Amino acid sequence: MIRYFSVWNTMQNHKDAPAGKAYVDWYYIMAHEMAHVHTPYHDEHHELLFQALATRYLTELHNLPAVRELFKCTSY
Ligand SMILES: [Zn+2]
Repeated sequence: MIRYFSVWNTMQNHKDAPAGKAYVDWYYIMAHEMAHVHTPYHDEHHELLFQALATRYLTELHNLPAVRELFKCTSY
């Protein structure tokens, strides 16, 4: 139930936000939740897995035009 409200609040926070912000926020939310597949806790194991998942596709996230626009990136 707490996660439902968290998702709802996150969606509300993105209603008027740039698309790039939504991509970045959801990227980290998904990495966080995927790390919970292996542990229900916020322990060292969760932290290490979250970091590994979050860094794995960071280049692809950064290459999204909306994300590049959010961070005002000018070159690839
Ligand atoms: Zn968690």
